[in-house]
Amino acid sequence: MEYPHLYIGGRWQTPAGTDTISVESPSTEEIIGAVPAGTPDDVDRAVTAARAAFEEHWGRTTAAERAEWLARLAANLEARRDAIARVIAQEVGTPIRIATSIQATSPVTILRSYVELLESFRFEEEIGNSLVVREPMGVVGAITPWNYPLHQIAAKIAPALAAGCTVVLKPSEVAPLNACLLAEACLDVGLPPGIINIVHGTGASVGEALVTHPDIDMVSFTGSVRAGRRVATLGAERIRKVTLELGGKSACVLLDDGPLEQAVGMCVKHALLNSGQTCNAWTRLVVPRAQLGEAEQVAVATLRTLPLGDPLDPATRLGPVVSAAQRDRVEGYIAGARTERARLIAGGRRPTAFNKGYYIEPTILSDVRSSMIIAQEEIFGPVLAILPYDDEEEAVQIANDTVYGLAGAVWSANPARAVGVARRIRTGQVDINGGRYNPLAPFGGYKQSGIGREMGRFGLEEYLQVKALAK
Ligand code: NAD
Repeated sequence: MEYPHLYIGGRWQTPAGTDTISVESPSTEEIIGAVPAGTPDDVDRAVTAARAAFEEHWGRTTAAERAEWLARLAANLEARRDAIARVIAQEVGTPIRIATSIQATSPVTILRSYVELLESFRFEEEIGNSLVVREPMGVVGAITPWNYPLHQIAAKIAPALAAGCTVVLKPSEVAPLNACLLAEACLDVGLPPGIINIVHGTGASVGEALVTHPDIDMVSFTGSVRAGRRVATLGAERIRKVTLELGGKSACVLLDDGPLEQAVGMCVKHALLNSGQTCNAWTRLVVPRAQLGEAEQVAVATLRTLPLGDPLDPATRLGPVVSAAQRDRVEGYIAGARTERARLIAGGRRPTAFNKGYYIEPTILSDVRSSMIIAQEEIFGPVLAILPYDDEEEAVQIANDTVYGLAGAVWSANPARAVGVARRIRTGQVDINGGRYNPLAPFGGYKQSGIGREMGRFGLEEYLQVKALAK
């Protein structure tokens, strides 16, 4: 999967430089493809194309026209679903079943959600003697991570395009190949030039050139707190709107009357999804102290139902982590937790069954206290921490005791009680008794999990300016 060109101005263009970025499979450790390492000159070309498209065409289209293009793109991506799933299984290591049902399906769902939203969204309203109009922000710089790569891209380009913005995208350099399939989809449907432009490259070079480019109107970033802080700082110096979707350390709180088996089983699967490389993963299971033993048993039994294996094998439920560096990091956290006297009840080692690939056994640590590093920092690996509590007050206090505030869950036989506890948890989303995923619901963080929201109407509004015309 060699892609020697960059998708800029509606066609494949030769990059300004000659460097390339190799893409490694985390399961075979082989190089499976390459993309150009873009440069600030490429960013400049892409921003110029995006500006021209915005001014001359896209910024003045009707909502119905934009919906039509989004629908075409959705249909094309849907037709490529298996190819997209396969590429992401290879470059991220997501098991093919999940790569198909989540990684390759979610982008289509997101695009279609905006097609639908555009039918009813009110871009104008009267407030007293003012006509309030919502106008596109303009040219958007979008920067995305590797863990759900095309989902995160869609969560930016769909609302941006729906709003009437044009986009310069810098995908993750760790998993860039899926974005090349998006470029092919744009070419296939004949999306007019400059509406979506894709510049591959590193964060330090292409990412920063994009964030600081004088002709960008807004930056939408998803990734780590470290990089998000840098992007926000660069944006602040230019009084530029920056939205941030960052990390998480979400708690799954089982109340004393909650369905233990169901809650613990679902928490383990949630925490380990995509080898734990999920920003909203429930990585802290918070259980009544009296039920700790039973919760541990269910957690370990659930883990046994999730076989590790080759991401391309349909029977695999857990793949490797994305890179050698990520595996080292995760192993460091597990060792640190044991030093802090957390109790290892499952996993913790490199599995012996594989002689290639960045595999780690799914790991559960119990007797974790909230002050431990393993309860505070985002690990981004297949590791679940179980924290016992003595009363409901302490459960809420533990749930809120991190710098993050992205997601979480509450379980109780009494839904009103669960909602009462959920209201006290300072995160952008909380699932009640296993509530279903809702692609129209706002997604985003309190505290250091970010600024702004994605998905649905709230996601669209991030890409709009409001103007008041007094009459
Ligand atoms: P990362 O921050 O290393 O990289 C994310 C993106 O930012 C990449 O495209 C990278 O090239 C770019 N980048 C890095 N430094 C930059 C800089 N100085 N200027 C501009 N761009 C820069 O994160 P990652 O390792 O790709 O992803 C993992 C992180 O992303 C985790 O912390 C995870 O929680 C977070 N994440 C958050 C969400 C969310 O929606 N809240 C979703 C997925 C992942």
